[in-house]
Amino acid sequence: MKLLVKSFGCQMNKLDTALVTSALEDAGFSLTESVKEADVVLINTCSVREHAEQRVLSHMGHLKHIKESRPDLVVGVIGCMAQRLGDRLLEHEAVNIVCGPAEIPQIKELITEALKEKKKSLAVTKKIRRKAPDEKSQALEEFESAYGIEDESIPAQAFVRVMRGCNNFCSYCVVPYVRGPEVSRPPEAIIEQIKKLADHGVKQITLLGQTVNSYKYKKGEKTWSLADLLDAAGNIDGVEWLRFVTSYPSEEFFDEIMQVMAGSPRVCEYLHMPAQSGSDKILHAMNRNYTGAWYLELLDRARAIVPDVSIAGDFIVGFPGETEEDFQATVDMVEKARYKNAFIFKYSPRPGTASDKRLQDTVSAEVKQRRNVELLAVQEKISDELSRDFLGKQVKVLVEGLSKKPHLNSIEGGGNPQLVARTATDYIVVFNGPVSLAGQFSDVKITKTSPLTLFAERV
Ligand code: SF4
Repeated sequence: MKLLVKSFGCQMNKLDTALVTSALEDAGFSLTESVKEADVVLINTCSVREHAEQRVLSHMGHLKHIKESRPDLVVGVIGCMAQRLGDRLLEHEAVNIVCGPAEIPQIKELITEALKEKKKSLAVTKKIRRKAPDEKSQALEEFESAYGIEDESIPAQAFVRVMRGCNNFCSYCVVPYVRGPEVSRPPEAIIEQIKKLADHGVKQITLLGQTVNSYKYKKGEKTWSLADLLDAAGNIDGVEWLRFVTSYPSEEFFDEIMQVMAGSPRVCEYLHMPAQSGSDKILHAMNRNYTGAWYLELLDRARAIVPDVSIAGDFIVGFPGETEEDFQATVDMVEKARYKNAFIFKYSPRPGTASDKRLQDTVSAEVKQRRNVELLAVQEKISDELSRDFLGKQVKVLVEGLSKKPHLNSIEGGGNPQLVARTATDYIVVFNGPVSLAGQFSDVKITKTSPLTLFAERV
């Protein structure tokens, strides 16, 4: 049986895709990239932005067309959109299976039934905001910990989820409604999984959580925090770089986490901590529990403990009620924060969220677009300045593989192709070298810079 898996969305979704793919390969499926060859197509979906859902729907339209001549093709939709839309998605002519993120341990059985009995199946979590019953949590934990997954697209790197769900209810965000409340995984299961990955040659582990810094697990007298996890994982032989994403601006454990970063050569000096807005009025409307000034103080604290920490941020422009003055507060924050890079999104209402129910989407598409471009320009200038500091310096990078944009670098590499790599501080570096370096560390010297890319030669 041949399986095609298509994935949309964030790193959390990519990890689910890797887990499901690995489970189905163990069950005898072989992977294909061609829909013509596939017996089963799984689409892992994202609900965070409207655009992501539209792409999935358009893909399903394409599959419906294919199924007219191949009615035996089984199509399953998993992920956040499956949980959000449930039986409405099952009504789509192309779809056989709809399975939410907390139900993925059942995926093999659902596919087997669909192949045999040609019936439609729905597996979504009822009352998702309640803590799951123990047997369900246990099934998810077993499914998750059974697979020591190396990210096949990036050699020697892997992602390990440390917690599921989110308790924050930012007013624009659908995640708490599709992934449920925060559940931290047992530390021993996480450590075991990291050991297994390291034994398979994985050198860089990224710990994942929607609010990874709120990881908390009570074991006997001790409550484990992310700082404890990083400390323990940093002592595992073979693990050379450790990262964690995404952090919510919060007081809890913050100094401890930064101190582990300062003290452990294996914890990368990188912090991804979205602010979303610089305006206190908008932060309040977003239900983010801090002010702009407090957030900037937190960055100062991070830099006091780890002076060279590189920081990335996220912003939403055009949130309901955002005036020019509010937007200017965001611009000021970006200028003060001096992010390595910032991901900037235009607000779009997500059905079922508090901001969609209670607030009018007042900012026009043109204004959102203008603010997006303006903010990107402010950030680009800062990124460019920070990148220039690397000129002439030697840095250690972990090579990911062939560069996807070789035209960016005209430096001749003695017949070697252009490779893409990353520094511990998450800067993208391209240089010419043999493909055999993929998954290896390499020392390079920076010869040229642009806001988002450093160009280098091998030392
Ligand atoms: S912290 Fe806020 S934005 Fe992040 S997943 Fe939770 S609710 Fe969504």
